[in-house]
Amino acid sequence: MRIAAYRTATRVELGVLAPDGASLQPFELSEDEARRGLLALLERDGSLPPLRDVAQRLAGEVLTVLAPIPRPRRNLFCVGKNYHAHVAEIARGGFDTTGRGTQAAPAPIVFSKLPECVIGPGAAIPRDACVTGALDYEAELAVVIGRGGRAIARERALEHVWGYTIVNDVTARDVQKRHQQWLLGKSQDGFCPMGPYAVTRDELDLDDTPVRCYVNDELRQDGNTGLMMFDVPALIASISAGITLLPGDVIATGTPAGVGAGFDPPRFLVPGDVVRIEIPPIGVLENPVAAWPVS
Ligand code: MG
Repeated sequence: MRIAAYRTATRVELGVLAPDGASLQPFELSEDEARRGLLALLERDGSLPPLRDVAQRLAGEVLTVLAPIPRPRRNLFCVGKNYHAHVAEIARGGFDTTGRGTQAAPAPIVFSKLPECVIGPGAAIPRDACVTGALDYEAELAVVIGRGGRAIARERALEHVWGYTIVNDVTARDVQKRHQQWLLGKSQDGFCPMGPYAVTRDELDLDDTPVRCYVNDELRQDGNTGLMMFDVPALIASISAGITLLPGDVIATGTPAGVGAGFDPPRFLVPGDVVRIEIPPIGVLENPVAAWPVS
């Protein structure tokens, strides 16, 4: 099942994408509930609300697809340096802030992004020249927690996963490096494009799912979720060891090699660029880059 939050000409809806990907069927929800996106489903007792008997076509009708969780209720958990080739390129480019260089971390590096930096598909990623001259993209598979818990064993971890979406962990490399800790460099306004859909966990094979990122149609990242250093069960076990995970929590699982900072010279984003991330079967998350302030 693929879920989308979207705006029609008259209201915000939450719906199920038809198998052919051409239309959406909205749930019977109030607009206030639909505005919360997937959270409106995850905080129920496990049952899905009924579907309304209409099909809203993606093409032809004026629909704007929103992030599946337009405003997470707390910070997103994010994992740094979770693909070997990305660890190496960051060290090569002089952007390592951990002091470990090309050495793999002994445990997952976990940081967070503010919920307010989430934007939807098609929305502009702002580049504020007063803040950064090193704006970068990071294509990532993001886990959506369905059932909360603490001290979740890795063997049971996937039972706590509702499903997956795509996140672009947009990063100001210069800010990240200058401040050592990553929150500022990763949580600037508009730094978390998310979507277009959220898919239930049965739809995706964690051992073999491509993660690709294009900038202006040039393939930059060509990874696979099977190459993660710490897999999704390990991440859930690590994070939940002392923090109670809640339904609707998002865990961005790290980015494969091919970020702008990994090129020599670096290839950072500038206004007019378009970043497109493809993770089948979730879909295509595309966002333009625009000078701050974006309209
Ligand atoms: Mg990242």
